[in-house]
Amino acid sequence: MNFQKIKEQDKKNILNTYNRFDVCIESGKGAVCKDVNGKKYIDFTSGIGVNSLGFCHPEWVKAVSEQAGKLAHISNLYYTLPDNELAKTLCEQTGCGAVFFGNSGAEANEGAIKTARKYSFDKYGKGRDQIVTLTNSFHGRTVTTLAATGQDVFHQYFGPFTQGFRYAEPNMEAVEAAVDGSVCAVMLEFIQGEGGVVPLDEKFVKALFAFCQERDILVIADEVQTGVGRTGKFLASEHYGVRPDITTLAKGLGGGLPIGAVLVEERLKGVMGYSSHGSTFGGNPIACAGANVVLRNVCNERFLREVAAKGEKLKACLSVCGDVAAVTGKGLMLGVQLKKQKAGDVAQKCLEKGLLVLTAKEKVRLLPPLTITDDEIKKGLQILWDVLA
Ligand SMILES: *Cc1c(COP(=O)(O)O)cnc(C)c1O
Repeated sequence: MNFQKIKEQDKKNILNTYNRFDVCIESGKGAVCKDVNGKKYIDFTSGIGVNSLGFCHPEWVKAVSEQAGKLAHISNLYYTLPDNELAKTLCEQTGCGAVFFGNSGAEANEGAIKTARKYSFDKYGKGRDQIVTLTNSFHGRTVTTLAATGQDVFHQYFGPFTQGFRYAEPNMEAVEAAVDGSVCAVMLEFIQGEGGVVPLDEKFVKALFAFCQERDILVIADEVQTGVGRTGKFLASEHYGVRPDITTLAKGLGGGLPIGAVLVEERLKGVMGYSSHGSTFGGNPIACAGANVVLRNVCNERFLREVAAKGEKLKACLSVCGDVAAVTGKGLMLGVQLKKQKAGDVAQKCLEKGLLVLTAKEKVRLLPPLTITDDEIKKGLQILWDVLA
């Protein structure tokens, strides 16, 4: 089937919710993928931060295939091995008390929101259920996580939205103004991803955590995009030296398979008891087998230092490009602010030259696989230099 035919069939049968590039990707290896015509692309997207180990990492493929040949699913009515190992690793790596597994970022955030509200309900009773989120945030596409998202454009068409969210600019004055006795949690991304790779100010974060701790207001860190080594630390919270009460993970955790996780601190372990929450596919053995390989690679000081170093190198090389005004972000989560060109045009030009990049707001966004090699970085940079000269 040629590309035009594929595109026609896609447009005919799949709801048109995505603005796809004119290319059909068929296979990949490392940080390089191939379209149906055999054209190769360096991948600076990781499938939006998902393919942490690149395409078809041999150890990952082996673990996932073996698990598929052993047990794909059985339901959470029974114990299984892959989620057992994964939860243990996550608790050891992050120091959290326990984990709940779902299948996506939005689902993880829903679990976090439920946990925060239940914590407050158990302790303070009804009415202390409001959650403050930050302007320019992104927390997902379900009706509740759209409501949690602090951008008006997401609050259209699908109402009534879930009640109980209020928005504050990322500064203490605004947060203090938004907080009263009815607030149970603040939810944030340390680096706002979809919002344009915007890191929160360190002083603000430290002050916010102290403020919340004093009032027994929980902090929920949405690390769906920043987590699992993406920023050069396992969690972005480590850059800020703070410990959120609840952390959500998803994108990079499974290395290409759908999985989400809610990590709660030890003292919150009892909040979500029997029958309070669930997910049919949550903790799926194949997804967890893939995630176990991701963590075996990523939970390693040297690996994380290399991610940070690759990020620094990319940042330095991009900063000197003619059309680059600034580069934001940490590790392999970078946003490139342009002087003249439009981010979408840059992405299109890069595609034509054999490089996949993302956009976020007005920026070009780069989320290369964490395992990307120096050679692959060099090839990708060459194309970016051409386009951003
Ligand atoms: C992608 C993303 C989500 C939503 O994740 P899905 O898996 O698409 O539901 C939520 N929060 C952040 C910060 C994200 O980057």
